[in-house]
Amino acid sequence: MTEALRVIIVGGVAGGMSAATRLRRLDESAEIIVFERGPYVSFANCGLPYYVGGVITERDSLLMQTPESLANRFRLDVRTRHEVLAIDASAKAVIVHDLVSGSSTEFAYDRLVLASGAAMSASFEQASIPTFSLRSVDDVDHITATMAHLDGQASAVVIGGGFIGVEAVENLARRGIRVTLAQRGRHVLSPLDPEMAVLVQNRLVAEGVDVRTGTTVTGTVHDLVQFSDGTEVRADLIIDASGVHPDSGLARTAGLRIGSSGGIWVDATQRTSDPAIYAVGDGTEKTDAIDGSGVLVTMAGLANRHGRAAADAIAGVPTAAAPALGTAIVGLFGLTVAMVGWSEKRLAAAGRPHRVIHTHPGSHASYYPGAATMHMKLLVDPLTDAILGAQIIGGEGVDKRIDILATAMSAGITASGLSRLELAYAPQYGSAKDPINQIGYVADNLATGATASIQWHELDDARRAGAVLVDVRSRAEHAAGRILESINIPLEELRDRVWELADGPIIVHCQVGQRGHTAARILSQLGRSVTNLDGGYLTWHAGTTSRTSIQPTFIA
Ligand code: FAD
Repeated sequence: MTEALRVIIVGGVAGGMSAATRLRRLDESAEIIVFERGPYVSFANCGLPYYVGGVITERDSLLMQTPESLANRFRLDVRTRHEVLAIDASAKAVIVHDLVSGSSTEFAYDRLVLASGAAMSASFEQASIPTFSLRSVDDVDHITATMAHLDGQASAVVIGGGFIGVEAVENLARRGIRVTLAQRGRHVLSPLDPEMAVLVQNRLVAEGVDVRTGTTVTGTVHDLVQFSDGTEVRADLIIDASGVHPDSGLARTAGLRIGSSGGIWVDATQRTSDPAIYAVGDGTEKTDAIDGSGVLVTMAGLANRHGRAAADAIAGVPTAAAPALGTAIVGLFGLTVAMVGWSEKRLAAAGRPHRVIHTHPGSHASYYPGAATMHMKLLVDPLTDAILGAQIIGGEGVDKRIDILATAMSAGITASGLSRLELAYAPQYGSAKDPINQIGYVADNLATGATASIQWHELDDARRAGAVLVDVRSRAEHAAGRILESINIPLEELRDRVWELADGPIIVHCQVGQRGHTAARILSQLGRSVTNLDGGYLTWHAGTTSRTSIQPTFIA
């Protein structure tokens, strides 16, 4: 009989616990020890902001498992308040510090799994105002204890406009706290492109959030938070969600290879440069699904799947861990914001050719009550028609569409291929031409050359070069808000009034791009050189508004 494998796992939350439980299902005989520095294992870190906001009312529901429940069901030896201090890779042993007794012990392993997650990058050293991160159950205990003493005039500063930052903002606001959000970058949710992020920022402002972009917190004095632009605001508490970095200290000192992103390097089976050591989760470098480069993507789904992949490899049935698409979704004040793959700015920075498509469909059939506008953006490889990325902002149905796009990307379905997907339809859920089909039609028209488009940020240059801009919306729409010096010829009149347009290139636009496409088809069949303003007035308006330093050239 072979001796049971001893597997030690460092970190007992998403990646670590997925590895532990999967391994038990594959290997009943393995000795599996999980060391967790904190007091809890398997807690719902994604639910923490909602406990702060009072949406999740039971603290216990954040605690998905306990060492006892994991021992009973999975025969796992889970030791909380145990910190792994060092790895002796040559001896295949870890030094573990018992944070309760203060003693340190060496544990030998056959296989080691590092699932130590990410560590906070604190914004400043010391604060005169209670300052918290939002990463653990301890954190939310401290935050809720502080909030319990606040009155109706309470105010808070959130540092960092990433996913956790905006969730913190929303949930503090739910508690009636006035919030200032400080974001170092030009706009919140930096993976978005600016003309999409501005929609999020507008919603935050509409909800009374004081959004300060291009700003950092430099320190505090008494009850004042100081910003890099020299301003100050009073605050009762600060939530620092300014960012994380891979917690790769153990791996570094053990001499494991670190990837160019700063995360622990792993192969396709999650094995590190030491064949006995695996790594998963936020501390680990992922393989980017678009270009195969090493990237950091700190999402729970990947941590879980990669934990499973590590267990498979340890159990001798290796599976290739999925590369990272960066699929993500966040809700704030009724808005759903979702993304997958690369953004336009990332593609541009990498010098990678790309085609951009914006659409603004209804979430379901317009004749059925309650349809909400979705703002969709698709990034496409113009050579292969591959989908490179997508961003969607709206209400209901955003989650479904981003998951379809993520699935299409994984399956290698092209942008034009989206037009051919047979998706479920009844009027309360979608349209016979679902928003996914519609964006596929646009992609197909661009790929086949049936239409040509121009982006909102290319418009000024094209007009300076002599193109005439024709607004094919109704007179009422044109009067309600127009691009300066555009000629209004409603689509229905275009065939009869085309003679009014002087020779030379024409750009057409409507509200969202659809009537513009029809106009472009009419004009091109009359032999005119024509492009359609992609995403229409809505995208142009969002884009120009996002340029904080450039005044938009529209009259509202
Ligand atoms: P973690 O889950 O962070 O676990 C790492 C554990 O290792 C920690 O408990 C730590 O104490 C322990 N540890 C570290 N070093 C040692 C050591 N030396 N010895 C012993 N123990 C150690 N992702 C999503 O996909 N969707 C969401 O909606 C979402 N919301 C989030 C909201 C919040 C507030 C937070 C904080 C994260 C959220 N995430 C979300 C991210 C997601 O939680 C992480 O990607 C995921 O938890 C990473 O799993 P992990 O196992 O790598 O690390």
